[in-house]
Amino acid sequence: MKVTFYGIGYVGLVQAAVLADAGHDVCCVDIDQNKIDNLKKGIIPIYEPGLTPIVEDNYASGRLHFTTDAEFGVNFGELQFIAVGTPPDEDGSADLKYVLKVAETIAMHMTTSKIVVDKSTVPVGTADKVSAQIEQVLNTRFDSGKAPTFSVVSNPEFLKEGSAVSDCKRPDRIVIGTDSSDAEDLMRELYAPFNRNHEKIIVMDIKSAELTKYAANCMLATKISFMNEMANIAELVGADIENVRHGIGSDPRIGYQFIYPGCGYGGSCFPKDVQALVQTADGIGYESQILKAVEAVNFRQKHKLFEYISKHFGLSENPNAIKGKTFALWGLSFKPNTDDMRAASSLVLMEALWKAGAKVQAYDPEAMEETQRVCGNRADLTLMGTKESALKGADALVICTEWQNFRAPDFGLIKESLSNSVIFDGRNMFEPLRMKKKGFDYYCIGRALSV
Ligand code: NAD
Repeated sequence: MKVTFYGIGYVGLVQAAVLADAGHDVCCVDIDQNKIDNLKKGIIPIYEPGLTPIVEDNYASGRLHFTTDAEFGVNFGELQFIAVGTPPDEDGSADLKYVLKVAETIAMHMTTSKIVVDKSTVPVGTADKVSAQIEQVLNTRFDSGKAPTFSVVSNPEFLKEGSAVSDCKRPDRIVIGTDSSDAEDLMRELYAPFNRNHEKIIVMDIKSAELTKYAANCMLATKISFMNEMANIAELVGADIENVRHGIGSDPRIGYQFIYPGCGYGGSCFPKDVQALVQTADGIGYESQILKAVEAVNFRQKHKLFEYISKHFGLSENPNAIKGKTFALWGLSFKPNTDDMRAASSLVLMEALWKAGAKVQAYDPEAMEETQRVCGNRADLTLMGTKESALKGADALVICTEWQNFRAPDFGLIKESLSNSVIFDGRNMFEPLRMKKKGFDYYCIGRALSV
């Protein structure tokens, strides 16, 4: 099938490459000329395991096309996927300007019938807005009854950054919101290669499909904030959240997934999607108490590591206690296996350290370029080439992201390199008792032993 994607980011590029890899012919349109030029040269703009070879192979075999020419894209695909960003507006609601701009572009150039697919995460009612936008432009181009027909489908994306390629190749569900049986047929044909072992396609009305995406992300964010709340209580009552985690996860109704305490969730999805659903609810006069609490707990949790740092160095007695000190920071991306820094906990920590006059020596296996782009050049941030070099001359080590190669470090080297044997671990990577035996002051989340 011939398919066009608008927005070649974490979602658009991965889905386009996986669909091309299954044999479809996919045109990728982006307004970022630099990104498109780089993709044509084989430079992949994001880090995502397994992505580079499928982009290269399918570009070489002519099943993936990269362009900034929207008219070419409109004429190319019978299915037109909108996969542009939906960042939070000032009040937290989803900003639809990029989505509606693509709708307008499609309507400006279409000469034959199209199925327009909302792949971006968009609030309930967006498909109607996309339809209205297309209708409005078509009315200016064609006499009444002469315009090509179109249908808008909601097909939210559930991939996870860090395992996006395998998530798209082996999705656990494919949600299709449509009121058109023709559109449903085409969507089923598109996804047939990914729907072989058992039925994964769930067809529903458009509004339910739009809400399904928010409900999924809000449920996951709720699990994280719930565990962080438990961790904070555990710490105060003298319990160990890791024992509690094992104790509750063994109940199959609860399960072990997504109940890890830590220094808060980040990324481009959970924070913005929780806020957007709060706004949707507020807009219809419903106060979503749980979602507001999820957001508030996460905000507090992102300051947790700095709280420990303040406590350890006595910042409340001496506001200059960490002025001039250097903190080694391991892990900058919002989670492992991605270079994405959007709403990362590391950014909140670094801001707090800088405000208190401290310096940061940071290392991340994949997010160094992105950190440079986001933070710019500043005297109080040095990006280091290895996790070991980040330790040199530092006063303490802080861990914000649980990358696999941080799990078994050379503790002897850490001790030798730091001027204080103290580790602030936002991801509970080590055992507090073992760390004590090794002579470290070790702070982690929700384990009374460690604080
Ligand atoms: P992104 O910021 O990585 O990519 C968006 C791309 O859209 C950019 O390359 C930008 O240049 C391009 N763009 C903007 N306007 C355009 C236009 N008019 N025409 C063509 N291209 C245009 O975004 P993302 O992370 O891929 O997210 C896209 C959507 O998918 C969002 O709604 C997001 O919530 C949702 N989503 C993201 C994830 C994720 O893990 N990142 C997962 C599921 C759903």
